[in-house]
Amino acid sequence: MAVRAVVFDWGGTLTPWHDIDLVEMWGAYAAAYEPAVDPVPLARRLAEEEAARWRLQQASLGADGTGALDHLFATVGIDVSTPRHGRALAAYLAHWDPHTLADPDALALLAALRGQGIRIGVLSNTMWPRWHHEAVFSRDGLLPLIDAAIYSSELPVAKPHADAFHAVLFALGESPEFTVFVGDRPWDDIHGAQSVGMRAILLPHSRLGDQAVAVAVSPDAVVQRLGEVLRVVEAWNTDGG
Ligand SMILES: [Mg+2]
Repeated sequence: MAVRAVVFDWGGTLTPWHDIDLVEMWGAYAAAYEPAVDPVPLARRLAEEEAARWRLQQASLGADGTGALDHLFATVGIDVSTPRHGRALAAYLAHWDPHTLADPDALALLAALRGQGIRIGVLSNTMWPRWHHEAVFSRDGLLPLIDAAIYSSELPVAKPHADAFHAVLFALGESPEFTVFVGDRPWDDIHGAQSVGMRAILLPHSRLGDQAVAVAVSPDAVVQRLGEVLRVVEAWNTDGG
C-alpha cells in the first residue's frame, strides 16, 4: 500500500524529549497568579492534578482523555475569566518555550514529504489548547506544512484509544492502510496506530520513566532520528508498500 499520509505525535517526536519537573513548570503559573504568596503549594496542586489526569488516561487505555488545562484550573478553584489567570497562563506557557522547539529535522522532513504529495497530520495527547500548539508550530515554521491536527484537549478520548486515531484519519480524509504514524511511545503511539491498521514508526529516545506502559509491540520501522522517516516512507512507496 502506498503511503499517502504521515501522522506525527508531537512531544518526543516532532519536538525532542526533555525531562520536565511539573511542579517547577507550574511554579511559573503560581508565581504570576499570586505574586505575594509562596507559589509552591498552588504549583504542587496543579502538578498533582495534571499527573492524576495522565494516570487516568493510562489506566483507562485512553477512554478517559487528557482533558484540557481549564479542567485542571476548575479542579483547584481558579477562575479562568480573570486577568491574573491570563497573565499566569501566559507566564506558564512562556516557561515551556525552551522545551517546545521543533526537532532540527522537522521542517525539512515535512517539506520533503509534502513535496511527494504526502499529507501531514498531527495527533497529540495534550492538555494545551489548540491555539498554543499552533503558535508553537508557527514559531518554528511548521504550521503551513500541517494538513490536519487533532489535540486530545478537544477530544473525550486520548491515544491509544482508536477514536483518537480515527479522528485524525477523518480530518485527513484518509484510510489507515495508506497512513503511517510516527511516535515515541510504544503503547500510546505504536500499539494504538497499529490497532487501527496504520503502519507505525518508532523514534525510541524518550525517557518515559513511570509514563512507560509495558507492551509488546513490533514497530513497522524504528528510526534513530526524525529525518530518517523520509527514507523509510520512500522505501515503502518504492516497494509498493
Ligand atoms: Mg510523544
